Amino acid sequence: MSSIFYVSNKVLETPEFIPSLTSVKSSYNYLNLLEYLTSQTISHYMISAYDLNLFKDKITKFNFEKFQKRSNLFFMDSGAFEIYNNIHSQKWNNNLLIKTALNFKPDILVSLDYISSEKIVNSKNELNNYEIIRKKLKKTPQFYELVIQNTKLKEIRKFLNNLEVDKKLFAICIPERNLGLSFLNRYQKLQELIKLIKVDYSFDQILLHLMGCSNPSSIIKYSKLGVDLFDGIHWQDMIFNPLNNDLIDFSNLMDLNCECKFCNEFKKNIKNNENFLEKYYMFYALSHNLFNYKLLMKKIRNEMI
Ligand SMILES: [Zn+2]
Repeated sequence: MSSIFYVSNKVLETPEFIPSLTSVKSSYNYLNLLEYLTSQTISHYMISAYDLNLFKDKITKFNFEKFQKRSNLFFMDSGAFEIYNNIHSQKWNNNLLIKTALNFKPDILVSLDYISSEKIVNSKNELNNYEIIRKKLKKTPQFYELVIQNTKLKEIRKFLNNLEVDKKLFAICIPERNLGLSFLNRYQKLQELIKLIKVDYSFDQILLHLMGCSNPSSIIKYSKLGVDLFDGIHWQDMIFNPLNNDLIDFSNLMDLNCECKFCNEFKKNIKNNENFLEKYYMFYALSHNLFNYKLLMKKIRNEMI
């Protein structure tokens, strides 16, 4: 069901897809993608605190000011994903997360999960971590989301029983990859979890955020189950085919026969200038994707799909 929320005087309509960016999986130069994403007129994006800290010396004053003055909703991810993937050697902990959040001032700090290089998490660690960060953020205006890494119903019940809900808790997140390997298992597991969180525990004012999901056809199906927020990185490494809501290789934009405003403009310019294709491919491919994600979510909210 679609809803409208007001966060820091900015509007968020759900279900919504949040394009996210991580240095762990970038199709292109990370800083160029960051520059692109933050300069778009899209209403929201998610950027990792870990990456902002890693690249802080390379983020220009112009870009930093953009974060401060933006009209977009800025979701800042905790950095647990980058630590989990462990390809950079940067040290990461709660203090650095809080410091980065105070510096960049996100509207919503996402996934107060267990920030550690240990891959085994349990609900006790997650609750402890949530409490620590929550206390440190008490005086700051941002909302936060908390992640449940465990998908065993018994464990989640224990977690929800001990969860102290306050008015800054904006969403509960579940990583899609934790739900199983096949779509069928993921779908059934998610159905059980949504029933538990939204019906049995009546946490209906808290949004449900499915993390790491940017496949358009999955988004359509999960939205119908009651997922409110999605985020993912495929907007920057695959091409969204709006004709069948599938994703294809990033190099194949021209194979789509897409008639969106970006594709039309691109085709027109290629005809007149042979260097245009390579030089501006990235810009048009990304713009086509963001435009089509936006359209998809609008159609879902209007129940046109
Ligand atoms: Zn297009």
